[in-house]
Amino acid sequence: MSLTHEVLNQSPPFADVDLFALDTALAEAVAANGGAGAGRELSEFGRHWGSAVMAERGRLANENTPKLRTFDSKGNRRDQVEFHPAYHELMAHSAHAGLHNSTWSPDGRPAGKASEVVRAAKFYMAAGVETGHLCPITMTRASVAALAVQPDLLNGTMPVIGTRAYDPTFAPWPTKRGMTLGMGMTEKQGGTDVRANMTRAERDGSAYRITGHKWFMSAPMCDAFLVLAQAEQGLSCFFMPRFHPDGSVNAIEFQRLKDKLGNRSNASSEVEFLGAYGELVGEEGKGIRTIIQMVQLTRQDCAIASVGLMRSGLAHALHHVRHRSVFQKHLADQPLMRAVLSDMALHVEASIALVMRLCRAFDGAPVDANEAAYMRLLTPAIKYWTCKSAPGFLYEAMECLGGNGYVEESILARHYREAPVNAIWEGSGNVMCLDVLRALSREAEAATGILQRLAEETHGLPGAGEAMAFIGKAFRRPDAEGVARLAVEKLALLAATAALNQISPRHSELFATTRLAGNHGGMYGAVDLPPDDIGRLLDRALPQ
Ligand SMILES: Cc1cc2nc3c(=O)[nH]c(=O)nc-3n(C[C@H](O)[C@H](O)[C@H](O)COP(=O)(O)OP(=O)(O)OC[C@H]3O[C@@H](n4cnc5c(N)ncnc54)[C@H](O)[C@@H]3O)c2cc1C
Repeated sequence: MSLTHEVLNQSPPFADVDLFALDTALAEAVAANGGAGAGRELSEFGRHWGSAVMAERGRLANENTPKLRTFDSKGNRRDQVEFHPAYHELMAHSAHAGLHNSTWSPDGRPAGKASEVVRAAKFYMAAGVETGHLCPITMTRASVAALAVQPDLLNGTMPVIGTRAYDPTFAPWPTKRGMTLGMGMTEKQGGTDVRANMTRAERDGSAYRITGHKWFMSAPMCDAFLVLAQAEQGLSCFFMPRFHPDGSVNAIEFQRLKDKLGNRSNASSEVEFLGAYGELVGEEGKGIRTIIQMVQLTRQDCAIASVGLMRSGLAHALHHVRHRSVFQKHLADQPLMRAVLSDMALHVEASIALVMRLCRAFDGAPVDANEAAYMRLLTPAIKYWTCKSAPGFLYEAMECLGGNGYVEESILARHYREAPVNAIWEGSGNVMCLDVLRALSREAEAATGILQRLAEETHGLPGAGEAMAFIGKAFRRPDAEGVARLAVEKLALLAATAALNQISPRHSELFATTRLAGNHGGMYGAVDLPPDDIGRLLDRALPQ
């Protein structure tokens, strides 16, 4: 009670909930893609990450941003980054749940079974609470795929990467209980075009001395980085630890931290290497081929996180409109709001079905050529579509909360600022489209097989045949680059329709009707869904 008025008609906090139990679409997508036995584990995770305590840690880690401590009080270089304790808590909880390593067996081989699907479900829920800290988590997980080409390094690091301990002490990685890894590719003159990297690597005995800069290198308190640099045979990948094997601090100097739109809990540095110690990973001259193994996995995580952000936005919006009345009626009962939210719920149903289908492909790829082909062709298409759709989706979710959505206390404002980065890093939108074209030309037979399978899985659904015909024609055009966005978006929509069809044929039909046969136009709610379907979609999206 304030002095002048009673606080009325505001929604209670959306906290202390089980993020898994409330998310029917997630549970069904996990089960349909091999993770049926993980319900209890995921519910435990969902309750923990859905707690008010974790939400508060997310807020604190973003409001109290990391600080670069370049020097100590006597002028000695420190090159360390200080984080708020809430950030360390988030890291510890993610590490404890194995988000940074659970898809690997202790020797660094893929863990198999449904480890990708189950981890993705956790990553998605964590992303809906706090996304910034997941940057070092995803890079650590992904680095193992690149280290795999260098068995001595992999064998050395896996016992430390493989623990579920988070150890933020500034110490040489072999002495630590757990470690994190980052990556340094982007330079001032080019991020997409890493061939233009100017950083040099000179042989020094069995190791290398690396000199140059990186314009973006996130999570600088990682214990080691996979870095690209020019060696005698060309662009090569190096393992660069924060400490030299002799115990001294490696010659890595941070210039400053980026002042970013979002992603505030995560530090992103500009850095110089002054003859820094590095060990070759893979062969000289094969740097891109080596590091792309890592990037494939971080791209997968960009897609998962984007869908996690959208799901969180939808849940917060639905929760709010069920408590907020306008003109004596709950917003949740106003036909136009129902049209908007059910359309958004349909988008999330399709997105989660699609990313979980992709994660099944990651699970199966090591032993199944078809799954490997699905993964190769669709990872860039799915990263493109999910990451591109997230900012617009979150803007709409924010608007459902009216003014409350726009202010910093609201998680929607944070999610909205966070969302665009997933489309930019790990290969921006156009680069993803070009990568789909590359897969189609270099692995034509495998890619054509995947297109045929999608055609079969969506056969008879509204607009599916036309979409497939369009895709086939567009990709064959000599000027395919110019229409690649159109074709890649249709490919992602078609794959989403197929993935959803395995879980909920009715939702797949609605999705195809509005997205493939109809012209969705990008505004949520500008569709004409049957009232029964609207009710079902809203009930599923957030059971009351
Ligand atoms: C918060 C943040 C953290 C980051 N952290 C890291 C990190 O830890 N390590 C790291 O190495 N990098 C990091 N990056 C850098 C990021 O990966 C690059 O910004 C990204 O790859 C794009 O490179 P660029 O900025 O040089 O843009 P450019 O390569 O100049 O691209 C600009 C635009 O042109 C488009 N484009 C490129 N080529 C083509 C083409 N042939 N046809 C049509 N369009 C094209 C791209 O899609 C993009 O939209 C980070 C970036 C951000 C924002």
